[in-house]
Amino acid sequence: MSKRIALFPGSFDPFTKGHEDIVLRGLHVFDEIIIAIGYNSQKNTRYFSMELMIERIQQTFAKQSNIKVITYSELTASFAQKHKAKFLLRGLRNTTDFEYENSISQVNRKLYGELESVFLITTPQLAWISSSIVREVHRYGGDVSEFLPYKL
Ligand code: ADP
Repeated sequence: MSKRIALFPGSFDPFTKGHEDIVLRGLHVFDEIIIAIGYNSQKNTRYFSMELMIERIQQTFAKQSNIKVITYSELTASFAQKHKAKFLLRGLRNTTDFEYENSISQVNRKLYGELESVFLITTPQLAWISSSIVREVHRYGGDVSEFLPYKL
């Protein structure tokens, strides 16, 4: 049987404990997970550099050979296809996430019929963690270490 590969796309600016949780739980469902850091067309400047994030994510999953990290700047669905990923993995924290993910997943199915989006509901203790909050706390000199699975 072919490997079940899922793409976990996002901005990951930065990658948080919430993201880590989705990846680790995703491994119960998939054989391989590709964390794909996208160059977001709407947010063209990052707070944490791509290079730093790739390095820190690789370090976080150094012992897991079935978790990969790559960057991309194209349509997520076509990128998934290129990497033979038949699934998109996403996390859902609340109804705002749901509304957003619902329409994206419909479009992806329309454009790339085979591609299935799979959603994991956030672990309640991590539901309040968002990349934007981490950026805000960090910008004003606050300690963000408890939000992240690595040291900055
Ligand atoms: P995007 O810019 O595409 O929204 P993010 O980097 O913010 O990407 O998030 C990537 C994915 O991780 C999304 O599916 C998002 O809902 C999910 N996610 C973000 N934070 C959490 C969290 N604390 N718990 C579970 N899932 C999360």
